Amino acid sequence: MEDFYAHIAEEDSEIYKALQGEENREALGLELIPSENYVSRAVREASGSILTNKYSEGYPGKRYYGGQEFTDAVEMIALERAKKLFGAGYANVQPLGGANANIAMYFALLEPGDTVLGMDLSHGGHLTHGHPVTYITKIFNFVRYKMRNIETGEIDYEEMHAIAKKVRPKIVLAGFSAYPRELDYKKFVDIARDVGAYAVMDIAHIAGLIAGKAAKNPFDYGFDVMTTTTHKTLRGPRGGMILTRESEEIARKIDKTVFPGFQGGPHMHTIAAKAVAFGEALRPSFKTYALQILRNAKAMEDVFKREGIRLLAGGTDNHLLLADVYGSLGISGKEAEEILDEAGITLNKNAIANDTRSPMDPSGIRFGTPAITTRGLKEKESLRVAQSMVDILKHPKDQQVRKSTQEAIKELSTTFPIPERFA
Ligand SMILES: *Cc1c(COP(=O)(O)O)cnc(C)c1O
Repeated sequence: MEDFYAHIAEEDSEIYKALQGEENREALGLELIPSENYVSRAVREASGSILTNKYSEGYPGKRYYGGQEFTDAVEMIALERAKKLFGAGYANVQPLGGANANIAMYFALLEPGDTVLGMDLSHGGHLTHGHPVTYITKIFNFVRYKMRNIETGEIDYEEMHAIAKKVRPKIVLAGFSAYPRELDYKKFVDIARDVGAYAVMDIAHIAGLIAGKAAKNPFDYGFDVMTTTTHKTLRGPRGGMILTRESEEIARKIDKTVFPGFQGGPHMHTIAAKAVAFGEALRPSFKTYALQILRNAKAMEDVFKREGIRLLAGGTDNHLLLADVYGSLGISGKEAEEILDEAGITLNKNAIANDTRSPMDPSGIRFGTPAITTRGLKEKESLRVAQSMVDILKHPKDQQVRKSTQEAIKELSTTFPIPERFA
């Protein structure tokens, strides 16, 4: 893909070198970080397009600058496709990322001091759902619910309801970045309705599964708003989005909060890339992709279970898995991350629910199948990847095992190069 960078090669050798390094890194290893993916060349072309030149503060038909014939067209196409993909009444495609989308959503729906009831972070919630290190916690009050049973992943809906009655949240927030099960959406909506709160779902991790109809759509259960990233399972450019099911009033508040409330000019090149990615996700082939993500994750689950390694929530219904490597094998998450990295497998250490170790060196690892599925791996190969992981984690000091694992992973990544459409 050197032609893609022809001008950088000529004009900026330092950045060119780093880009080449990253190209090789992505091609040679196997990517198991569940929030990463390979976007299509078409998405990258849009993302690298001339639209980065243009200021278009405002919304289609209501901009602060002239010359918006083509930016309006691009944003309207993105909006139409987003609505169709998720069955939404309204969409805002301008948030620069998932965190930005969440911040705008909070400010659109809440007054300072209001309460949000969200998933406990150590049980799978996200930083932007009220971690004390984030500034948003200085403005709103975050209260948490947890799993009732860590071995099955079942959320404690009764406790959640009791807390909701006591703290009277304005938002009941579903969504996660490290939780492997489907949620009972009806229960969330019932609790939200009972206490007069908005039901909001942050679908950042599973947007592609919902778009590909491999997971349930929270809007079908009455959720009011969904926030998301566009770059995880949805396989689009790095960015965010906010969707509203049917309330025009909420949608108008969200638009005002995103711009001029928080952001300046939208990144129209990224919005073009979002539109291209949404177009791809509307095709039947994306349904096949989303289903294969699940099948590959199940295949990996089978191996870990058979090998007696504890999986949080007892397994997976989606694209990601959490393994308690410290509890099962006596090696920490950080060690496991390093050992696997050396073997050509990229994933991340992760705290597990009720972790006894520190967040910097926790008990678990988190991994998932969106990227290897784009790469073309199916169940058979996913089993092999999982088996290699287990082999090396069970015998981290055995040079023979380390070497054979390294070779197995290398062979897989050469047999399954990044497909031409994505390279
Ligand atoms: C990834 C993620 C985000 C943040 O997205 P960024 O684009 O990194 O800001 C927010 N919420 C959830 C649930 C996520 O998984």
